Amino acid sequence: EAAKARFVEKNNESLRLHQEAAKSLPGGNTRSVLYTSPFPVFLKNGQGYHITDEDGHTYTDLVGELTAGLYGHSQPLIQEALIDTIKNVGLNLGGTTTLETRHAALICKRYKLDLIRFTNSGTEANLHAIQGAKRFTGKKKVVVFTGGYHGGCYTFPDDRPAENCVDQDDWIIAEYNDIEDTRKKIEESADVAAVLIEGMQGRGPCIVGEHEFLHQVQRSARKVGAVFILDEVQTSRLAPGGLQELVGLQPDITTLGKFLGGGIAFGAFGGREDIMRVYDPREANSLGHSGTFNNNTLGMAAGYTGLSQVYTPEVSVEFNAMGDRLRQRLNDVTRDTKILVTGLGTIMGVHFLKDGKKQLKSFRDRHEDADLRRLFWFEMMEDGFWITERGSLAIILGTPWEELEKFVACVERFLEKHRG
Ligand code: PLP
Repeated sequence: EAAKARFVEKNNESLRLHQEAAKSLPGGNTRSVLYTSPFPVFLKNGQGYHITDEDGHTYTDLVGELTAGLYGHSQPLIQEALIDTIKNVGLNLGGTTTLETRHAALICKRYKLDLIRFTNSGTEANLHAIQGAKRFTGKKKVVVFTGGYHGGCYTFPDDRPAENCVDQDDWIIAEYNDIEDTRKKIEESADVAAVLIEGMQGRGPCIVGEHEFLHQVQRSARKVGAVFILDEVQTSRLAPGGLQELVGLQPDITTLGKFLGGGIAFGAFGGREDIMRVYDPREANSLGHSGTFNNNTLGMAAGYTGLSQVYTPEVSVEFNAMGDRLRQRLNDVTRDTKILVTGLGTIMGVHFLKDGKKQLKSFRDRHEDADLRRLFWFEMMEDGFWITERGSLAIILGTPWEELEKFVACVERFLEKHRG
């Protein structure tokens, strides 16, 4: 309560702006995930790995736009590409451009895809991947996993889809990291068109799929002829060729989004030629896939510049090694506490486990101390670190190691203050 009172006092202007926003937006909000109680802090601008709010505080940004903000808020090459596109190409031209061809070719090469289609978001990428799989197989059901998040209308908090999930009857929900349950659900259900899974569940935050489990998912999908769709909307930044390269998976279709648009709205799905061909308009009876901004010039230019010039394979390897180092440091300093930091590379989740069990295999295993997590969030903000209330972190490229060490020191201070 004391931390909350300090928060309200410190963020007076945000409170005023929130009240103003609530006159035209439900709850003053247009992305439910960004709503925080008692009200969200309003952001004014960002530079590099810093953001500044409307109350005049500047933070080190560890939210990293939930992994999409990999390049930070002012990467010079991306800024230049955007300005050049605005001046010399134009906004949407309403036709096909070479900007999309070169971005498609680069992504296909990096992620070993035969063919790719662009969308406006990761949600749409999953939607079209699923529709394509249904058409390709002539089947209808999709196996997904507890705790899975594949977009606002594809959420699976437990053994039923969320209320706002589309196609309620089409889902078969298996337990994440449970080999036997998964094998059964995929191999013994009728009419399975696809298996859709994240290699690390972002919503957990960051529940890592075990190696053997992920390979069993792939094997079972292959065995029954279901399309194996790997959702790499978040995880594509974890290695030069994404999480699939890290763990040796070969999905039939990969869905992508977030950082690959260089900070502009983006999504993509791609993979096996025979499956993607259902979207080829030269084929009789092809599936439609449209979207006014699918090939928007800004996303195509910023995404390509980022992937070709900034987030090269070497940078990706080095950057994620730094993330692993941070997670290791955090788990070292929290060893004898109920805190556990999960994740891979530069994406991680801080958990406050009630039962003190230092392991998290499934979304359903999370018995978290919500009060402590909230206190942590308030206090990290007071110390100048912008993190999500639910405890997920995504490091921004160019964040110096010393800054991350400062974060570790703040976590240590938090532990000293609230020991027991
Ligand atoms: N899939 C995963 C794993 C995600 O984390 C997200 C977004 O957080 C999505 C899909 C949806 O992407 P978008 O928000 O671009 O629709």
